[in-house]
Amino acid sequence: MSETGPVRICRGCQEVIDSPATEGVLIAFEMSNSGPGWGIWAHKDHLDQVQISETALELALRLWGHQSR
Ligand SMILES: [Zn+2]
Repeated sequence: MSETGPVRICRGCQEVIDSPATEGVLIAFEMSNSGPGWGIWAHKDHLDQVQISETALELALRLWGHQSR
């Protein structure tokens, strides 16, 4: 385990995303009153299982496009 940072859980299947950079996508960002907030992640393959708003989906697709280059 060389990766640092918070564990990312897929919002679709509730499993840990082992490689967020390759198989994960940031679908939303939740603000926190007591900290900087955190991202909501899902496996790319499980995006259709996640109930999110259209705005969040647009964000996801935008980020996804950047990651695919
Ligand atoms: Zn998943």
